Amino acid sequence: MNVHLWGVRGSLPRPETPAANLERAQVLLKEFERSGESSSEKFVKSLPPQYLTGYGGNTSCVEVTEGKDQIIIDGGSGLKELGMKMMAGPAGKGKAKISILMTHFHWDHLIGLPFFVPMFIPGNEITFYAVQEDLEKYIRLMFTKPYFPVDFSWLPSKINFEVMEPRKPVSIQGFEATPYMLDHPDPCWGFRVERGGKAYAHCVDTEATRVSEAELGEDVALYRGADLMVFDGQYTLMEVVEKVNWGHAVAGIGLDIAMREGIDKVIFVHHDPYANYEKILKAKEQTRSYFELRKQENKAAKKPFHEVEWEFGYEGMEIEL
Ligand SMILES: [Zn+2]
Ligand SMILES: [Zn+2]
Repeated sequence: MNVHLWGVRGSLPRPETPAANLERAQVLLKEFERSGESSSEKFVKSLPPQYLTGYGGNTSCVEVTEGKDQIIIDGGSGLKELGMKMMAGPAGKGKAKISILMTHFHWDHLIGLPFFVPMFIPGNEITFYAVQEDLEKYIRLMFTKPYFPVDFSWLPSKINFEVMEPRKPVSIQGFEATPYMLDHPDPCWGFRVERGGKAYAHCVDTEATRVSEAELGEDVALYRGADLMVFDGQYTLMEVVEKVNWGHAVAGIGLDIAMREGIDKVIFVHHDPYANYEKILKAKEQTRSYFELRKQENKAAKKPFHEVEWEFGYEGMEIEL
């Protein structure tokens, strides 16, 4: 199973402004001077890629594939880029069956849909899945004047809607996808996607107000023993205290769940639209301190804990399970 992140930004896309680009260029040039390195090529290679390019500005969209089978989760602005890639395959010839799972219907998870080119190709069949009963109404609304010039009824592809039952698995393109409830101001459902003994837990958007097994109840199955979890890490420690009930979490909460539930790898996404590279780096440092502290506490208390590999996600990141 391959998990590809096409959009890792939360709440609002984050276009790089000329002022931000200029600031970045100045920082890099200063660091190049300070490094004493004579080759700019070597200097560039010595830096982490996100230091040069940032983490990406597109909002939520994740692609899960195995061979030719594919599940797309959410239609944020990252979906536009994915759609362009898909046009080189069966979708460009009107021969694709496309499955899109929707966690919820906040703008940052929808905004890519009107720009998803495979929807405009006759012959393609697109099936939307969600727990929310009004799934069809919400998607149709995206293709309504005056919000968008192309009315839903004019779309030439065949579009289906499947309402999922909470915590009931559905077979989609050879995967088994099960929705579990997350903690968000409007109902939002995470998905556990399983295939061939591997499990991917998609946990965005969530404030994760329920952490303990007792609080999570049946929803603990979303996390249990997952090979990979993509988790909402929008805020720093300070912000999460200030922004109670805003519906997003801090990375440390995801690590607590992962250590307890035996999750091997965690990627934090839904970066705040105001978070530049430096701010995400700061959140990463905070997360590292928190993780080390929790490990020491567990060791001192002789409590078993799972060694978790974690990282902050960037646009274009791919994880093979
Ligand atoms: Zn969101
Ligand atoms: Zn949301």
